[in-house]
Amino acid sequence: MDGSTTPTSAPVLILLGPPGAGKGTQARMLEERFGLVQLSTGDLLRAAVANGTDAGKQAKAVMEAGDLVSDDIVIAILRDRLTDADCVRGVILDGFPRTTVQAEALDTLLAENGQRINAAISLDVDDAAMVDRISGRFTCGTCGEGYHDSFKAPKTQGQCDKCQGTDFRRRADDTAETVAARLDAYHAQTAPLIAFYDAQGALARVDAMGAIDDIALELGAIVTTATA
Ligand SMILES: [Zn+2]
Repeated sequence: MDGSTTPTSAPVLILLGPPGAGKGTQARMLEERFGLVQLSTGDLLRAAVANGTDAGKQAKAVMEAGDLVSDDIVIAILRDRLTDADCVRGVILDGFPRTTVQAEALDTLLAENGQRINAAISLDVDDAAMVDRISGRFTCGTCGEGYHDSFKAPKTQGQCDKCQGTDFRRRADDTAETVAARLDAYHAQTAPLIAFYDAQGALARVDAMGAIDDIALELGAIVTTATA
């Protein structure tokens, strides 16, 4: 937090994946296994504002004015955060960079620190299967039990297995149309970043449609290789 630029070779990973790809779950597993710290843009901003750092004060003023925090401020906050002791074993960036301009600024920052992007890992999904998976979800409004049209329908149609309740709920933003739109927006935003890191030779792709443990194994192997 003192703004010093202690050179460090701590690994930097980027995790890319659409909503529903299990990014949060996988990031937590990587934190536990490798001692990495997950840094999400929202958390970074909140912490910097709460700690009252110079960049945090700038971010607070911008947000209070209802504006978006600039790339320069986010980079300044990240610069401070990367020098914190808990980041010594490496970090997983989540939600940053979102654009190739941000990715270039990040490369410059990391170069100052003697760091680099060790791997940008894309959790790849099958869009049609994701739409089925997410849009089929519903829950019992009485006991909260989760169900799915295709994978876990109630044994008696219209009645909860657990509490015999008949009041089922679906999230309004889990319809096939909204899920498809979220995926389209994700691909549109992420495609340039995928190309950027592919050109650097830093891109790794993981099939995120399989079992959580299988995905974790594959990710672990990628991280082990990328940080060796
Ligand atoms: Zn129930």
